[in-house]
Amino acid sequence: MGRADLHVHSSASDGLCPPREVVRRAYGVGLDALALTDHDTLAGLAEAAREARSLGIDFLAGCEISIVDAELDVHLLAYAVDPDAAQLNSLLKAIHQGRVGRVREMVRRLRAAGAGVTFEQVVHQAAGSYSIGRMHVARALVAGGFSPSIEMAFARWIGNSGEVYVPKRTPGASEALAAVRAAGGVAVLAHPGLYGIDTAEARFAEWDVDGIEVYHPAHREADLRRLLDWAERRECVVTGGSDWHGDEHPAGYIGSVSVAAEVVAQLRARAARRERA
Ligand SMILES: [Zn+2]
Ligand SMILES: [Zn+2]
Repeated sequence: MGRADLHVHSSASDGLCPPREVVRRAYGVGLDALALTDHDTLAGLAEAAREARSLGIDFLAGCEISIVDAELDVHLLAYAVDPDAAQLNSLLKAIHQGRVGRVREMVRRLRAAGAGVTFEQVVHQAAGSYSIGRMHVARALVAGGFSPSIEMAFARWIGNSGEVYVPKRTPGASEALAAVRAAGGVAVLAHPGLYGIDTAEARFAEWDVDGIEVYHPAHREADLRRLLDWAERRECVVTGGSDWHGDEHPAGYIGSVSVAAEVVAQLRARAARRERA
């Protein structure tokens, strides 16, 4: 039985390798199937799909959507989506614009408070990263001599209790789930272990997801049984992947976490069932 890595990032979001290179690496380590799941963008999918076709590796179109639920940042993996779907594309665009708008607002407030960083300096810190955010603002504050450290930048200025804190505006779960469905896809709760394993299942009980990402580098061995039970109780597909961002990433290499390639067929079947319903 072949193996599939269903959680991988390319340079279309914050990974280091271009989409075609990601597919080559997946092929190179002997994977039979791959899903590209860049943060809040579908921009890498066409290139990855082309490369997968030419190498003969099964490719599943995906993305990882950032949502905020009761002040908690949550990631939702979408699979088998149509990369041209209008509603999903506009949702992802709104997330991106919200991110940029938030940084601009933080910079405006910082300047008013006497910490004269510019938006361009923050962009420079982001160095081409699609997901510009608070970490880049913090680095610009340190580089500009307005804060002695990243930690202090968060504590004094931009952290949740900071002087110029700006809350995130992202879609909620129901909006994201609707957009995934309208794109013909299915949604999977990403790395639930990161949200607190003791409360995660109750917290996400109302979310109509088709799968749970049980296998993830950040999950502890001791939590796997609980996650598998959860998935079984909810009749969810059990997914997994390496969350690989490029060789430098400490989480592990592409394919270091994988599932049976038949999981891809299970996700496609669920997507087809959703479309018929
Ligand atoms: Zn994530
Ligand atoms: Zn990820």
